[in-house]
Amino acid sequence: MSTNKELNSLNQKIVYNLTKFTTTDYTGHLSCVVWLVKCNFRCLYCYNDDLVFAKEGEKSLNEILDFLKTRVGLLDAVVISGGEATQHNLIEFCKEVKALGFKIKLDTNGTDKKQIEELISLNLLDYMAIDFKAQKEKFIEITKSNKYNEFIQTITYLINIDFPFELRTTINSNLLNEEDINKMILILKDLGYKNTYYLQNFLETQSNIGGITQGRLINKNMIDSKDLNIQWRN
Ligand code: SF4
Repeated sequence: MSTNKELNSLNQKIVYNLTKFTTTDYTGHLSCVVWLVKCNFRCLYCYNDDLVFAKEGEKSLNEILDFLKTRVGLLDAVVISGGEATQHNLIEFCKEVKALGFKIKLDTNGTDKKQIEELISLNLLDYMAIDFKAQKEKFIEITKSNKYNEFIQTITYLINIDFPFELRTTINSNLLNEEDINKMILILKDLGYKNTYYLQNFLETQSNIGGITQGRLINKNMIDSKDLNIQWRN
């Protein structure tokens, strides 16, 4: 049974925004996307700075549940994204979403292994997309966080239990070059990662946390795609 504290947490205004319909955020599913405030990273290229720095959002998770009740049979999945969604306790919300019959995809930077383990143990997640920001020696520079080891522990756990998830990296060549990406690919091969590794070039936006500008495009021919399924998103 839910405690008062857990139920109250559903009333907090932590939802920055809601995308009511998308076919692209969770492949093969008609989804909505719940964008949560706050993040424990400060990635230099992050263009979601509004969400990252927001102290409060516009809606509560209870308001999202009210919306979802009107979408039963119309949507089949909910994508929980951010910011960094695991900055919030998602257990009660995911239980309610599951009770309505939706699948759940979590977008995360992979640093909260404890909560991810709990969500999986309760059968509350169907799929995850995790950002692989950089190899260890560049991780702090790019994310302003020292949580590389936590990230590695999380994906090692997911690989070991064969959980369906994808890894993805945003590349700005001022921050990551072809040599860096090949080092990251080697790390994934050594860990036994067998799913698709998605690479996407940074696209300059009006604002981003580090004031990063467009770099040169990565030379895709220099990327070691042997023995790992690599797909470019742009
Ligand atoms: S890009 Fe980095 S700072 Fe921005 S929301 Fe994702 S993890 Fe947080």
